[in-house]
Amino acid sequence: MIIICKPEATEQQIAHIEEAIRHWGLKTHISRGVERTIIGVIGPEDVIREKPLAAFPGVSSVTPVMKPYKLTSFDFTHKRTVIDVNGVKIGDEKKIVLMSGPCSVESREQILEIAKIVKKTGASVLRGGAFKPRTSPYTFQGLGVEGLKLLAEAREATGMPVITELMDTKDTAAVAEYADIIQIGARNMQNFSLLKEVGRCKKPVMLKRGMAATIKDVLLSAEYILSEGNMNVMLCERGIRTFETYTRNTLDLSAVPALKKESHLPVIVDPTHGAGHRDLIPAMALAAVAAGADGIMLEVHNDPEAALSDGEQALLPEKFAQIVKQMRAVAVAIGKEM
Ligand code: PEP
Ligand code: MN
Repeated sequence: MIIICKPEATEQQIAHIEEAIRHWGLKTHISRGVERTIIGVIGPEDVIREKPLAAFPGVSSVTPVMKPYKLTSFDFTHKRTVIDVNGVKIGDEKKIVLMSGPCSVESREQILEIAKIVKKTGASVLRGGAFKPRTSPYTFQGLGVEGLKLLAEAREATGMPVITELMDTKDTAAVAEYADIIQIGARNMQNFSLLKEVGRCKKPVMLKRGMAATIKDVLLSAEYILSEGNMNVMLCERGIRTFETYTRNTLDLSAVPALKKESHLPVIVDPTHGAGHRDLIPAMALAAVAAGADGIMLEVHNDPEAALSDGEQALLPEKFAQIVKQMRAVAVAIGKEM
């Protein structure tokens, strides 16, 4: 349910409404707009419906959120969410965030070297997998906690916040200790226990779209996280499975405007996993910027042939620098910067 306050509603009236809602055992989420304040009421719909919300001074209207995803829906806030990760703002109307790094953390030298390269080129968030969801159990599975520690070292060295994947609820505490953003991978998008667990975490979460997930599925998975109290969620389009086998996945760029229409959450695009081949990634990255993505995630490796995972799709530093330059030009063309 959302309460739209009158433009002239006073701070005192708003505080009074919030107090009453909390007194009923319900929660609130406040969005302060230029014109008016919107109070989202969180709790069981049947309980909320019985409360005399419209009777409070300062209330203009009380409207139920009709979508199956409530807190995730744009109607809930009427305002875009901006997530502040150690000073890096994700979801900013004007500034597109670049997240880069290797697929996997492989060694201290490797992650420090690549972190420095991507930082110099313009990335503001460092990516790197420590727990790797691999299709084959015989391939590199990641360095685990050792990888998390190396990521923290790279953060120290470069000042960039780090994003890394959490695959299993048993590793939540460790990942939350070292990561600045917790990534939920495509294969776990509907692991509801994991979603609820990161919902109870205070850390920002990036939820990647499952390979066979519809837009509605993605939004309902995000709802699991938000409904546990964590509103700092960003969504990530990373390609879906279609009949096409030429590309690793089919990057669904229509997901960007669709998700941004339906939800207030920032939308990131990962052209690397979407395309899967180095030579296809540049065009998709430029298109993702043009489509309105709030952030772009790109895998970069200084020695892709020796990479322990996804070497065939990792960009070499020079190519990465060239794409960043082009993405910046596209960003400027649509009134943004990168
Ligand atoms: C990744 O980003 O490292 C990854 C494994 O991505 P996805 O879950 O999209 O396959
Ligand atoms: Mn990868």
